[in-house]
Order: sequence, then structure tokens, then C-alpha cells
Amino acid sequence: MRILAMMLRRSVARLSPLLSNGALRLNPIPPLPSSLSSHSTSFCSSSSRILSPTNDHAQSSADSSPSVAISIDRSGLCNPPEHAHEPSSDSELVKHLKSIIKFRGGPISVAEYMEEVLTNPKSGFYINRDVFGTSGDFITSPEVSQMFGEMIGVWVMCLWEQMGQPPTVNLVELGPGRGTLMSDLLRGSSQFKNFTKSLHIHLVECSPVLQKIQYEKLKCTDESIDEESGTKSAVSAVTGTPVAWHASLDQVPSGSPMIIIAHEFFDALPIYQFQKGARGWSEKMVDVSEDSKFRFVLSPGPSPALLYLARRCQWAPREEVAKLEQIEVCPSAMDLTQKIAKRIDSDGGAALIIDYGKDGLLSDSLQAIRKHKFVHILDDPGSADLSAYVDFASIRHSAQEISENVSVHGPITQSQLLGSLGINFRVENLLQNCTEEQAENLRTGYWRLVGDGEAPFWEGPDEQIPIGMGTRYLAMAIVNKKQGVPVAFQ
Ligand code: SAH
Repeated sequence: MRILAMMLRRSVARLSPLLSNGALRLNPIPPLPSSLSSHSTSFCSSSSRILSPTNDHAQSSADSSPSVAISIDRSGLCNPPEHAHEPSSDSELVKHLKSIIKFRGGPISVAEYMEEVLTNPKSGFYINRDVFGTSGDFITSPEVSQMFGEMIGVWVMCLWEQMGQPPTVNLVELGPGRGTLMSDLLRGSSQFKNFTKSLHIHLVECSPVLQKIQYEKLKCTDESIDEESGTKSAVSAVTGTPVAWHASLDQVPSGSPMIIIAHEFFDALPIYQFQKGARGWSEKMVDVSEDSKFRFVLSPGPSPALLYLARRCQWAPREEVAKLEQIEVCPSAMDLTQKIAKRIDSDGGAALIIDYGKDGLLSDSLQAIRKHKFVHILDDPGSADLSAYVDFASIRHSAQEISENVSVHGPITQSQLLGSLGINFRVENLLQNCTEEQAENLRTGYWRLVGDGEAPFWEGPDEQIPIGMGTRYLAMAIVNKKQGVPVAFQ
């Protein structure tokens, strides 16, 4: 413990030229680079999925109370549909979903619906456009402030020190969005040449449009495509670091220690939903009604997905299961966690997972957001983001089940994580050298990253009041035991 504390002090001390006044002098990038100034427009309180507590779905997940949204059985035993949504003319994705349901001869799981809506290779929500920022559908922490990526960079550098400064590290980001986190991480650590020289960046991204934005954000050049694997590679001019793009973690080469960052990635993984009834648990599914509208139904009998429910519930105390009327399970998150844990076991390294979620069973948290507003989950699929709270307990159990050589730490709150990594010092330093407008943005961004609830200092319009996500967002680390306890999790 003391050694780690010393290590952190040493790392922060080494970083202090960067994260203090001196840093701004030495840093070749202006003190408030584009990632901050481009976010300088106000962030209205309804503009992010982090601001979901007023939403019905989020509410019910938090208090685990049963939702009233579903009650339909194909056999006609239950009530008529409460929700039936469809745009006037069907989009490509809507036609595709309807044809799957038609040819399958019955409803599809919520997980299949979610996966198609988000990542269908032709018309999934993420595939063809930039969904982030004030002009997009929602805003994420790296887009709120440059300090987020910088602080994650401090965590990664400390870990690299704990790992004994290996000469080669695969730094993997799952779902990098616009590439803002990685760009701020690289810029913030660019003076630590031994560290940046060791990096090989691997971006796991399904969207060609976002891959292109990441390429530009990281100031990449020298693009090449490996003919055999199809892997796209380039070099980031920020630090001269090689960058490669992959469709999944499986494609990231093994053999070197790995540090994985997953920010708001797990919440996009498809979930199954189950509802308790007189005859036990049924699966909630998506069907098309006779008037051609999407609707939720309950499987009349046991469905194969009940196996996932059983897998998840083996880790939950009976009382926790007994008090829930609905349960969400994310087998993709469990499988991905096991892949991550196996890689960390064999190659060394760690993963940092940050997302909104809960350290226990989830009830009904799936939500849809379009243009910064909550909409119904079945409303014009493909035009709104779908995401669900992350079940951190299932991540912990999945990792522990697959490997004895990894340890799992947290979840801690985002506020605790960023606080331990020195965000207070960083904001103070940035505030000493900026315009009044930039200072306003820094204070707002800081509050949104670490605050809890509405910002007390806000004097602007009510609808733009910054809402803190410091306690609703949680961070968990999966670490090779050889690396000890990671910084911020002691
Ligand atoms: N981490 C970023 C973006 C979060 S949104 C941020 O915080 O700003 C989710 C990201 O994961 C997007 O980049 C999306 O295209 C990507 N994504 C979602 N599902 C994916 C999948 N199954 N495989 C690869 N990338 C995926």
C-alpha cells in the first residue's frame, strides 16, 4: 500500500510539470485546446444520457420497482399493446427488423433488436454518422472536457510504471467514439517519451464513419491496410504512435502487456430482459403487431435465453432476485469481460471500465435517446441511441470465474477516480491561464465530470444547468495480480 502511495506520488510529481502551470508552458499545445473550446457551447441538462434519472426507465432501474411497460402475450392471454410506434414510411432498418421477425415466424429478443439497431452494418445507429456532441444525440465525458482524457492518461501512466515500464504496451480503447479521450490522453502524456514510445494503440470500433473521425482526431498519417487481415493502420502525429483499427478485441494482437480502456462501451452491448409472472420468468421480446407496428410481447413459455438469466442469478443472493419483477442480463458483457480477463492473465496489464451502472442486478434500465431527449425504445429504430445500465457485479463475477490471476477493484465513483488522479489540481492550473469564457467552460465541465446533481454556482438559464455525473458513473479495474492494486482503487 505504502509503496503504491509512493508510486502515485512519484508519478503525479513527474506529471506535475504537465498538470501544473509549468505544464502549460512546456506543453506545445495551447492550454485550452480544441477539445475544450469545441465543447464551449452550453450543455443543457437534458443533453446527455448521463442525465437520465428523470427518465422512467432509469428510475425503475435505480429503485428496481417493476415497470408497467409490457403486458402482452402472443397467445392473447394478456392485455393489448400499450406502445406501438412506427414512422410513417419504413426506414431500411425497420424493414430489416420486420423481415427478421416475419421469417423467424415470431418475436426477436430485446438483445437482437438492440444489436441490430445499434450496429447493423448498413444502417445501425452508430454506423453512418457522428452521434456525439450538441448537434448529435448525446454528449460523453471526453467530449465535456479535455481533463477527462488527461486524467485517464495519468491512470494509464501510473499503471505502466507499476508494470515496470514495459518497452511495448498495447493500449486498447473499446468504442472510442470521436477519439477525443485518446487524443487528450496522448497530448497530455506527450512529454513522457519513454511511456509514449512504448505505446501501440488499438481502437476497437465498428463504425467506419467514427473510424475516420478518430483517424483525423489523432492526426494520423501513413494509412495502410494489411491485405491478409484487412486491418487498417496509421501513425498518430501527436506522439508518433502506431494506431490500428479492429472490429473486435479478438483481432487485437496478443504477446505484449495490454491496457484496455472502455468508456461508455459496455452500456451499448445488447441486453436481454425478463419478467416475472404467475408461471415463472418469461422473456420480454419485440414483435410486429397486425397493424405492422413494433410492440413488446412476453414469450409464452420458457425461451433459450432463460439460460442467461440462470447464469447471472447464480451470482446474486436469493433475496436480491426475489424482490425483482424484471431483470436485465447482458451475456455479451460477461463474455467480453472473460476475454479481457484471459488476455490480462496471459499478457499482463489491466482494464479500466467506466460507465453508468450499478453494483448488482438491474431491473429495467434500457433507454433510448434521440437529439438529447428520451424517446420510446421502439420508436423509429436506428434513429436513437439505445443503452442500458452496466451491471458491474456481473463483470466482477465473470472476471473472477475465468481467471485466478486477475483481481477486480471497485466500482468506485467517477468523482473518486478523477479526484484521486488529480483533477482538482488540473482544473486549478488551467483556470490560472484562460479567458473568462474558458474559465466558465472549465468550471461547468469540472462540475459535470465530478459533481453530484445540479451545479450550485450556475447563474445561466435553468434548462442549461450543468448536472454532475460524478456519482452516477462508476469505474472498475481488472488487473493482473502481478501489477498490484491500481492507482485510485487503493
Ligand atoms: N467512448 C466514447 C464513445 C462511446 S459510444 C466516448 O465516451 O465518447 C460507444 C462507442 O462504441 C461508439 O464509438 C460505437 O461506434 C462503438 N461501438 C458500439 N458497439 C460496438 C461494437 N459492438 N463493436 C465495436 N464498437 C462498438
